[in-house]
Amino acid sequence: MRAAALWVALILFEACSATTHVVEPASAPKAAGVEAEVRDDEPAQEDASDGDDTPAAEANDDGDEPDDEAEEPESPPVTGERRPHPLDGLSDAEVAQAVKTRLGSLGSMSVGNPNAGLLVNGKNAEKCELYTPIAPGTAWGTEETLAYLDGALRKVHAEIPDTPALALGDISARSGGPISPHLSHQSGRDVDISYFYVGEQRWYRRGNAENLDLARNWAFVRALVTETDVEFIFMDTSIQALLKEYAVSIGENRAWVDGLFGGGGQRAIIRYARGHATHVHVRFYNPIAQETARRSYAALVERGIVPPVQNYVQHMVKKGETLGKIAKKYGVSVAAIKRANRLKKSLIREKHPVLIPIAHPRPAPPPQRLAFPPRRLPPSEPDARAAARQ
Ligand SMILES: [Zn+2]
Repeated sequence: MRAAALWVALILFEACSATTHVVEPASAPKAAGVEAEVRDDEPAQEDASDGDDTPAAEANDDGDEPDDEAEEPESPPVTGERRPHPLDGLSDAEVAQAVKTRLGSLGSMSVGNPNAGLLVNGKNAEKCELYTPIAPGTAWGTEETLAYLDGALRKVHAEIPDTPALALGDISARSGGPISPHLSHQSGRDVDISYFYVGEQRWYRRGNAENLDLARNWAFVRALVTETDVEFIFMDTSIQALLKEYAVSIGENRAWVDGLFGGGGQRAIIRYARGHATHVHVRFYNPIAQETARRSYAALVERGIVPPVQNYVQHMVKKGETLGKIAKKYGVSVAAIKRANRLKKSLIREKHPVLIPIAHPRPAPPPQRLAFPPRRLPPSEPDARAAARQ
């Protein structure tokens, strides 16, 4: 498992190094570029006389194009505590029988990992007082992810009156798997969501000292950390600094706050990944849905409910490249690339990413029961919170 994880990390690193700009499709405020349309379904082996060799259109020279999400790191192996789970006490045979006869009753399953994963029994985030989905078709998460997200936002609303709804970006596709331009967002555990702003709440607004609502953003981060099993919160470094300073200014425990950002040798929950000055990316651990997927995986594959989990690399389209050439370079079919990117036509654009399905399927999940880190409460918190709940 470790070797497999390392291998994935390596191919992602390689892919990232070739990456420059990636645009979020549902959101990027970007002038329309010229797109090259070419024929569908040509095999990779076809040569230059063929439609798939129509070169990529030249991208606009767009100076303030939003950053990409291509450098979200792979989740490291989890260490921590084992949590009680609904399938405890069921044998593997009983789990397999449940997959066969009552799949829906097993609840959401987060299969594989965020960069090579799938979603079973997902739930669609719906517009409510907490948020408005930007692209409902890719706002599917596990029940846990949505419960955690909603719970954290409800806390902000309860603490600070008149809190506005956020813009909710991508979570995952209905059955998970790749959604361009993301490498992650494949297993129902990743959420892109806007910051809270002073004044206009607009999706993909670049956050800064003038326009960020630090009180609400900090309340959101605090609720994520203390009330949910959050794994990472990706934010731009400039925004991290503002939040950290704000948290300490209102009397939060300095060592605890530092630790959340990786100080004192602690695992950083709030960390940098390119492209997150315009929105927050939250990744949750799903102690239920990940473990359900692990227990059910063999039966899911056997019954054809999920294909073996697939790995991808991201390829940045260069000037003059075609889908046919790219397919040939990676030894995959044009049809497979189109499937991976949900392309109806063979449109590709220069400086935009395409996901390439890699031939080797990821091995099955680990045989060991999953473990998850304990929540990181501030020093004075456990007693006070426990008392408040009585
Ligand atoms: Zn994201």
